[in-house]
Amino acid sequence: MAVRRIRKYPDEALRSICQPVKRVNGRVRALLRDMADTMYHASNGCGLAACQIGVPLRLVVIDVDDELIKLVNPQIVESSGEQIAIEGCLSFPDLWGKVRRPAWVKVRALNGWGRPIEIEGEDLMAVCLCHEIDHLDGVVFTDKVLEYVED
Ligand code: ZN
Repeated sequence: MAVRRIRKYPDEALRSICQPVKRVNGRVRALLRDMADTMYHASNGCGLAACQIGVPLRLVVIDVDDELIKLVNPQIVESSGEQIAIEGCLSFPDLWGKVRRPAWVKVRALNGWGRPIEIEGEDLMAVCLCHEIDHLDGVVFTDKVLEYVED
């Protein structure tokens, strides 16, 4: 178990344009494990992107329904509908705001073993996928907040 330090706003790591992972090897799997450990240690997060621990690679971990999902080079390939939900972020402690997102998304990625996978998510899962994939392009949720709310 290796819990890494979560970079907090305004750390420049959050503005990294993350690079695609070329080969899903043991180092990448170790990173994904550390990311999951860090997310669970923080306890209130439903996802974490690699740049949040200072690593500018296109890696995301997500746990919305007690199932850990590890995504390498994730891309949103389809989306539909619209929702406005309240989001927070482990890099912005105690900050919450309403953000407009698709109601449903389909994501293609590689898993921790380099195999292509496709996942679909709606409601909170769609929010989480969009939020984390935004991080990979240096986009944070405060860039999109419609209105801040009390927690
Ligand atoms: Zn975030």
